[in-house]
Amino acid sequence: MEEFSVKTGKQTDMIDITAQVQKAVGETGVQNGVCTVFVPHTTAGVTINENADPDVVRDVLMEVNKIVPFSDGYRHMEGNSAAHIKSSLFGCAQSVIIEGGRLQLGTWQSVYFCEFDGPRTRKAWVQVTGSYPFDAECGNEKL
Ligand code: ZN
Repeated sequence: MEEFSVKTGKQTDMIDITAQVQKAVGETGVQNGVCTVFVPHTTAGVTINENADPDVVRDVLMEVNKIVPFSDGYRHMEGNSAAHIKSSLFGCAQSVIIEGGRLQLGTWQSVYFCEFDGPRTRKAWVQVTGSYPFDAECGNEKL
């Protein structure tokens, strides 16, 4: 498993982590398979969405903050129930197909770390399953 940290700058934030995920995939050497991006937090999430127009991220966060307001008579003593709810709505994991050692994302897609109780320094985990390049000389998979 690979791990990297993500610094978030606002209370709610979406940070493009595609490059870090691709780097983690590259370090495994896996050519074809599946990559799971997992966020080990209860007030954050991970999603895949448009990277071309920054207004998409702005609009997503604006609407999510309307759907789940910061204050709404919640009972959780820590005072961050809205963040817990958003974490469950977005989910803590995404899977991406890997072909030729590269994440297979659509032209406009990026992987986003979703912060709902920031700013903080967070973690993301990447686990890759799949095949290594085939070594024709010895007939084994190259490691
Ligand atoms: Zn809490």
